[in-house]
Amino acid sequence: MEEKSAPKLPLIGEKAPEFEAPTTQGTLKLSDYKGSWLILFSHPADFTPVCTTEFMAFAEIYPELQKRNTELLGLSVDSTSSHIAWVRNVEEKMGVKIVCDFVVGRTRTIEQLMKEDGFDAVYVGVGAGLPRFMNIEGESLVGVYSANEYLTRANLMKAYDFGKGADTPIAISKRVAVVGGGNVAMDAARTAVRLGAEKVYLIYRRTEKEMPARIEEVHHAKQEGIEFRILQSPRRVLGNEDGHVTGIECLRYELGEPDDSGRRRPVVIEGSEFVIDLDTVIIAIGNGANPLIRQTTPEMEFNKWGNIEVDENCKTSMEGVYAGGDIVLGAATVILAMGQGRIAAAGINEYLAQKK
Ligand SMILES: Cc1cc2nc3c(=O)[nH]c(=O)nc-3n(C[C@H](O)[C@H](O)[C@H](O)COP(=O)(O)OP(=O)(O)OC[C@H]3O[C@@H](n4cnc5c(N)ncnc54)[C@H](O)[C@@H]3O)c2cc1C
Repeated sequence: MEEKSAPKLPLIGEKAPEFEAPTTQGTLKLSDYKGSWLILFSHPADFTPVCTTEFMAFAEIYPELQKRNTELLGLSVDSTSSHIAWVRNVEEKMGVKIVCDFVVGRTRTIEQLMKEDGFDAVYVGVGAGLPRFMNIEGESLVGVYSANEYLTRANLMKAYDFGKGADTPIAISKRVAVVGGGNVAMDAARTAVRLGAEKVYLIYRRTEKEMPARIEEVHHAKQEGIEFRILQSPRRVLGNEDGHVTGIECLRYELGEPDDSGRRRPVVIEGSEFVIDLDTVIIAIGNGANPLIRQTTPEMEFNKWGNIEVDENCKTSMEGVYAGGDIVLGAATVILAMGQGRIAAAGINEYLAQKK
């Protein structure tokens, strides 16, 4: 197998060395990109097969942009090897160049890309990829995964083929608990079943009525034999002396008055502790915004949850910078991300027309 060394990333504020990346259209140099370029940080090779995000929305308006000699450059943290088929497809069908292994905010900041590298407009579509944890005892034991890590290993990095061509391992689990009640929790639970787990529990602290997952997802999860443990939540993860998960201690809950979300608040039943024996725990209680763009873009305004503030055209507080998708909406859906991509594309088109 071909060895691939990780690219050397400059520190924030440091002048980036000439950046070269192999693309399907030959070697690409950052310094070649002067003039009207749009940058998108996004690609749809995430966890969902349907995920086509904003690129496709930009594709609709792309002929218009081309008339103005505008070209699109996509920057992505993910490596080319993990989504080569998608990269080829977008490059060939849309003419977009894609640079992989490029962490915006590390390799170059947005300010550097615009002020020093000559990019005229930026679309920020970095998603909300930072998994939340429960902050309970035992969460760092071996065998505890975030749903993101579990699904990325299992799906994107093809861990099911570990040892038969894929480099990424995943725990061979017999007894799995997934904590959460959203679509991602259902994905993780059903993936655990497909990876051969004998028993999969879904642990949720409210009732099925309050579950944010789609009804079809809940239905399919049950059909596949996943045991729903509602009105329960882990208090701590238990492990052995080797640091491996052996179970979780849970508490039972009942529903109280509605909280800010309008859903009835789960109230703990004191003294209701019990233990479930497990070897794997997957935490699927949501994702937040990665703080990297916020930390490295002081000019940009964010709300208290770390999401970028935009106007009705998806324009941010920074001149020429637009944003959309999960980094604006919080963890949402593909269709909403695509909708915002479309709005932003129209806004950028207008912005470039006025600028020229
Ligand atoms: C497990 C899971 C299952 C889901 N299932 C569904 C579903 O069935 N239906 C549905 O509608 N939605 C689903 N969603 C939600 C959906 O995936 C998101 O709403 C959608 O992908 C958001 O699109 P986006 O373009 O905003 O971000 P993303 O699709 O997350 O894309 C962001 C991209 O930016 C890259 N990136 C991040 N930071 C940087 C940086 N600093 N520099 C360069 N690149 C960067 C990331 O690597 C990623 O490739 C699911 C989400 C998850 C996690």
